[in-house]
Amino acid sequence: MTADLSPKIKLADRMGRFLPSASQAAAQQARNLAAAGRDIISLTAGEPDFPTPDHVKVAAMAAMGREETKYTNRDGSPEMKRAVIEKFRRDNGLCYQPTQIIASTGAKQVIFNALMATVESGDEVIVPAPHWLSYPDMVRLVGGEAVIVPCPAERQFKLQPNDLEAAITPASRWLIFNTPGNPAGAVYSADEIAALAAVLIRRPHIGIISDDIYEHLRYDHLPFISLAQYSHELYRRTLCVNGVSKAYAMTGWRLGYGAGPAHLIQAMANVQGQSTACPSSIGQAAAIAALMGPQELLPERAAIMQARRDLICGLLNACPGLSCQAPGGAMYIFCSCAGLIGARMPDGGRIESDGDFTAFLLDAAGIAVVSGAAYGRSPYIRISFALPEADLAAAAARIHTACDKLRL
Ligand code: PLP
Repeated sequence: MTADLSPKIKLADRMGRFLPSASQAAAQQARNLAAAGRDIISLTAGEPDFPTPDHVKVAAMAAMGREETKYTNRDGSPEMKRAVIEKFRRDNGLCYQPTQIIASTGAKQVIFNALMATVESGDEVIVPAPHWLSYPDMVRLVGGEAVIVPCPAERQFKLQPNDLEAAITPASRWLIFNTPGNPAGAVYSADEIAALAAVLIRRPHIGIISDDIYEHLRYDHLPFISLAQYSHELYRRTLCVNGVSKAYAMTGWRLGYGAGPAHLIQAMANVQGQSTACPSSIGQAAAIAALMGPQELLPERAAIMQARRDLICGLLNACPGLSCQAPGGAMYIFCSCAGLIGARMPDGGRIESDGDFTAFLLDAAGIAVVSGAAYGRSPYIRISFALPEADLAAAAARIHTACDKLRL
């Protein structure tokens, strides 16, 4: 019998509306090349390199010992919800009831649940750019339209009130607001939050998805202010999204949570109940330990990250053709490669885009980064500094040598 390899299963039309994650693809390519014997330094990581804290692992093992290995409530166990309520009270001064809380398989699933529960064809979702690459694709996947609003580099890529105002239409359902932001690390002052809040308060039909996943990775004593904290009116229209992935180095445990209006949370729980049933019981036990346990590790780890940020920023700014600002938070440098567009590579080809420069870095220097195009802004590259300083210094030296080889 000869194998017939032509596809027999037709894919849904919606599969043509979005792209697979470019950062996951870049990280996978780096892993594949390394497995094939290439000497690769990957600066694609969207996760802290720190270990999950020991007390969290102990709590997870204790939960297994107690046979907490079954389904929980679809929106999270009562204990998990209590821990999330306490976190919002302690860290943000926000008050929630259990009906306003959902725990999910990562912050990513919280956002997806919310979009799935609220967005339909013709609905618009405002996404300031540069943006986490998943937002527009998730919006398109559920049938909505992502309205990308460019944010000026000279204002640290922060959303400007006038630009927000201009982007709002009667079809706007949500603003997705991410601070500290991935990929540019934007952190907003109290005045900047107040100016955006004033616009949003004037437009009561728009909700806010506040993605606070990098809340605890802030530098230079910058504040964290959520739009939900700003006024009761915005509290009632905001879904706060957070999780243990970045703060406690727990990406693989897949535990995120959301807090917002009870009717929205109920709808999100309905979506979740029909997709993953509930978040992992062991993940929840681990997250409870993270949220309720000692919090001193958060500023300690942020201080380590800040030193890495300063190191890599200085080294990148010394590379010919590259320039970057020190981000106020998160763990990425969004580095301009505008000075290298048009440059000739040693093989005679030209760098026409940040995608070309990304490919050149991988080929010529064994350095894996993600191109800015994936985050809605070009020409930039996103560089993760969630690596030990020695690795960052080695990576920067290779990038410098590669840039030296380009001729303008
Ligand atoms: N939001 C942003 C801005 C992120 O960068 C990420 C992960 O990279 C997430 C959400 C997803 O977090 P989680 O691991 O909790 O799903």
